Amino acid sequence: MSEIFTGSFTQQEPIPEQGIEAALAVLRHGRLHRYNVAEGEVSEAALLEQEFAAQMGAKYCLAVTSGGYALSTAMRAAGVKPGDTVLTNAFTLAPVPGAIASIGAKPAYVGVTEQLTIDLDDLVAKADQARVLLLSHMRGHICDMDRLMEICTAAGLTVIEDCAHTMGAAWNGVPSGRHGLVGCYSCQTYKHVNSGEGGLLVTDDEEVAARAVILSGSYMLYDRHLAAPGPEVFERVKYDTPNISGRMDNLRAAILRPQLRALEAQVARWNERYGVLEAGLRNTPGLTVIDRPKAETPVGSSFQFLLLDWPEEKVQAVLRRCAARGVELKWFGAAEPQGFTSRYDSWRYAPSAAMPQTDRVLAGIVDLRVPLTFSLEDCALIARIIRAEVGGVFQDPA
Ligand SMILES: *Cc1c(COP(=O)(O)O)cnc(C)c1O
Repeated sequence: MSEIFTGSFTQQEPIPEQGIEAALAVLRHGRLHRYNVAEGEVSEAALLEQEFAAQMGAKYCLAVTSGGYALSTAMRAAGVKPGDTVLTNAFTLAPVPGAIASIGAKPAYVGVTEQLTIDLDDLVAKADQARVLLLSHMRGHICDMDRLMEICTAAGLTVIEDCAHTMGAAWNGVPSGRHGLVGCYSCQTYKHVNSGEGGLLVTDDEEVAARAVILSGSYMLYDRHLAAPGPEVFERVKYDTPNISGRMDNLRAAILRPQLRALEAQVARWNERYGVLEAGLRNTPGLTVIDRPKAETPVGSSFQFLLLDWPEEKVQAVLRRCAARGVELKWFGAAEPQGFTSRYDSWRYAPSAAMPQTDRVLAGIVDLRVPLTFSLEDCALIARIIRAEVGGVFQDPA
């Protein structure tokens, strides 16, 4: 009898008790709006920003309603205007080109390598098309950030980092989100901390920080922030910066603060699970494991492997056979957008020339979530099932 996995790929851990207690306190006093504070009180949202700035070693932090809102706000604050072209990854998720489109700018895509990171040669070739690169550390794979920053500095490209999948990760010891002008994070349920919805951005640039605070809908209450620049900076930008409401509320902030304190321990747990999957899938004929660079401190909250140059029917057969045994895999090669996967050529509002090298990689990417509700034994079982089914289809001559 073949083994079957019965766990859920979308089940998160509960919110820590401390977060539940803090959330109840907010509900009981009723001051959910971040600027609604009692005499002498500091809001949960302001404390969250202060703590996350310190954790990331950043001067400034702003908490907002979503990761996508953080991206669009970062671009606006960095001066991206309607009609501008913004470079971004061809291998990413729909909210990234969506954030670019939301401010009237146009995404232009840079290819992906077999390491699942941005193709730096393609970036060099396209660097003169834009002033800003919205760099998506898609599925937690971090490119050579030292070389990327060299390329971008030389080309005058401002880097904004989408760290929806790299909160808690680092490159050469530098936290993900701290190489570019702004680092943006998502606190949505499927990311590394969970407030249902939510986002954070960090920067060391005082004018970008002040504009972001005003953009997020601070009215003129910016003095109630603890991780924002001084009033003189706001004086310089306040008449030219629109209010586009997207504030974080105190309920979500209360839930997030204890989760951020636990982030490092959670990262270690994710990486243990990733390691078990990786060990179980190495040397599977036909399957390519992604080798992670030494300089990278990853967060293994999801796992990818390649079925490179496989015909579509065989990839589909693997997905079907794994699904029948309870293992939910996603494929980035499907022609039609499905679930959370979609390809750059399905974002028809921002058409692109074909990228054959990228298409070859995308057509091979298979992806699975690794929620922390999985035990190490669950991960070993999942790897055994994938290994057996990939092997079965690979050897099948039909
Ligand atoms: C989830 C996600 C976002 C956006 O985050 P939301 O909080 O859902 O708006 C951006 N980029 C990537 C790669 C994501 O997975």
